Amino acid sequence: MAVNDGSSIKEALFYERLEENQVRCLLCRHRCTIKDNKRGLCGVRENRGGKLFTLVYGLPCAYHVDPIEKKPLFHFFPGSKAFSIATVGCNFRCLNCQNYEISQMPRDEKRILGEYMAPEEVVSMAEKTGCRSISYTYTEPTVFFEYAFDVARLAKERGLYNNFVTNGYIEEAPLMAIKPYLDGANIDLKGFSEDFYRRVCGAELSKVLEAIRLYKRLGIWIEITTLIIPGYNDDEEGLKAIASFIKDELGRETPWHVSAFYPTYRLLDAKRTAPQIIKRAMEIGKDMGLYYVYQGNVPGIGGEDTYCHNCGRAIILRTGYTVTAYNVKEGRCFFCNGEVYGVGM
Ligand code: SF4
Repeated sequence: MAVNDGSSIKEALFYERLEENQVRCLLCRHRCTIKDNKRGLCGVRENRGGKLFTLVYGLPCAYHVDPIEKKPLFHFFPGSKAFSIATVGCNFRCLNCQNYEISQMPRDEKRILGEYMAPEEVVSMAEKTGCRSISYTYTEPTVFFEYAFDVARLAKERGLYNNFVTNGYIEEAPLMAIKPYLDGANIDLKGFSEDFYRRVCGAELSKVLEAIRLYKRLGIWIEITTLIIPGYNDDEEGLKAIASFIKDELGRETPWHVSAFYPTYRLLDAKRTAPQIIKRAMEIGKDMGLYYVYQGNVPGIGGEDTYCHNCGRAIILRTGYTVTAYNVKEGRCFFCNGEVYGVGM
């Protein structure tokens, strides 16, 4: 892995120039004001002489072929492979980040690492490895927007699909710009209190909700994920509020993934999530009338299969990230012909 040698530095999209060589980044909802020779909160966008530059263009720190179910996206070409890429950096600083070595590297270690890979190369590798889509994942795709945008546009031209795995903090203009190429997103809704978002993530809940609504309004397929941390966001009221937001504002057909936490990074004092908490969260989602509620990170308790919302039969069976039975044809339940929501179903 090479240190950034300058080949990956490119003028940023979505910023405005201010007085005294300052700039305001307009890519995410932090809208950082950045002085000359300084970087924004994500640590990968730098003001040089009154111009904003991305420091991670074409510089993935990780790339893998993953099952799409790993994102998790359960209603997006089920059983397909996703060519998954990330650069270092994130606009959140979640105390429980599972990928903190790469997401927080620019902030914690003041380093930017990666291996140069042109957009053309990413798309060719996705094709050669039989992937149906490209996932912008592991860290936060918003902060490597310029790279994601170029890869996504090229991928689309070549018949591939694109999806984001994101914390939902992108501003309206960049999302509108990438919308023609972006087919799906798994968006974290990490809790339902401003206090939780401020303390644990360094962000604002109201802005996340605005961004999620925008994804929905633009017609991008979305699935929501909530990682449940005991003592932080596992209260009944908060979980009900999330389920209610999904039902009322995104629609019952929007899948909700509830997943278990294990102690990591700066949240080593919290306990692992007990299976009964995950089961209770799933019940809350189902009682709210959501069509598709899934669990992650707890082997052996089920909660990975898809049931037809119309006839109740199991239509997609999964073991871990593998689809073992598929009873959906052209977006319809094989048994009752009811609609099965998603992309490429
Ligand atoms: S993308 Fe980075 S620099 Fe831009 S507003 Fe967000 S955190 Fe700040």
